[in-house]
Amino acid sequence: MNEVVVCGAGGFIGGHLVADLLRDEGTRVRAVDVKPIDEWFQVFGDADNQVADLSDWGTCRETLAGARYVFNLAADMGGMGFIETNKALCMLSVLINTHLLLAAQEQEVERFFFASSACVYAADKQTSTDVLPLKEADAYPAMPEDGYGWEKLFSERMCRHFSEDFGLATRVARYHNVYGPRGTYEGGREKAPAAICRKVIDAKLSGRHEIEIWGDGEQTRSFMFVDDCVYGTRILMEGDVSEPLNVGSAHLVTINELVTIVEEIAGVKLRRRYNLDAPQGVRGRNSDNTLIKERLGWEPQISLKEGLEKTYRWMYEEMAARDSHKRQVLSSGAGV
Ligand code: NAD
Repeated sequence: MNEVVVCGAGGFIGGHLVADLLRDEGTRVRAVDVKPIDEWFQVFGDADNQVADLSDWGTCRETLAGARYVFNLAADMGGMGFIETNKALCMLSVLINTHLLLAAQEQEVERFFFASSACVYAADKQTSTDVLPLKEADAYPAMPEDGYGWEKLFSERMCRHFSEDFGLATRVARYHNVYGPRGTYEGGREKAPAAICRKVIDAKLSGRHEIEIWGDGEQTRSFMFVDDCVYGTRILMEGDVSEPLNVGSAHLVTINELVTIVEEIAGVKLRRRYNLDAPQGVRGRNSDNTLIKERLGWEPQISLKEGLEKTYRWMYEEMAARDSHKRQVLSSGAGV
């Protein structure tokens, strides 16, 4: 029996990963997250669901007992609005990965996966919109995103040294902007694709045909649909590459282009209002997929339009249901 532990299973990518792992016959999945179960994006009855704080060393030891594979996707994180204003909280995620690595070594876990980020890349290589795609070696000399990026880079190296010094097999993915259904789309931790889908749906439901865009909208990014992310994570875990690999789309778009695609899906055209004081992150970022294609023979496949359509549809149903519930409560006179 394969014992697999997914840390951060109540989160966006963790939930999709658990779903995918459970499709494999003979795999037992322990799904762990610090959030109360009713706040998990996805809960599966056939997983062993546990609420636990993995920043605690003793808890990590208990949680990894008997584990063969460990996926660490647990982190205190969010989009630019969150990471630019919560640097200490982001860096405290170092406790999670450190204690998980120690526990994995003690429990003689076979493989350990760490979800790193494109935020490890040096800021001075991302200052223009027509950016050169970032290859793995560009993370050094190091000058990552303050707070969040430093924690990711440090934890990547910790994986490397646990592998070199203690023989623990580690795998590291540098995810580039993952989006899809069943993730955060409000509350301050959401990322650009989710935030834009939400704003477009809000405009459609309210009839106020206007959208606020952070920055001038000309900043560039690439976005990977969550199914590609899960697939890339799994082949990386199964493969023999121990150094960090980019897992991200190489299709570069501006934020304005992203808005246009979502408008087309929604069938609306909105007046754009640019907020130049809002957090924007780096000016341009794209993934160089040479290494992942060479080593794993794969790169993300799902087009932005297809992925956004699925994301939009899911979010629209969620928001429309809430909207109609609110109207029902108001018309019944119960108040909200
Ligand atoms: P998410 O916030 O939806 O999921 C992270 C989960 O970790 C949350 O459910 C949270 O409750 C849990 N967590 C936080 N602290 C914990 C603790 N002490 N103990 C147990 N669980 C804890 O984020 P996500 O988008 O699913 O990202 C998953 C991983 O991928 C994170 O490490 C993130 O940094 C990384 N990543 C994500 C993206 C992206 O675009 N989504 C990009 C780059 C890297």
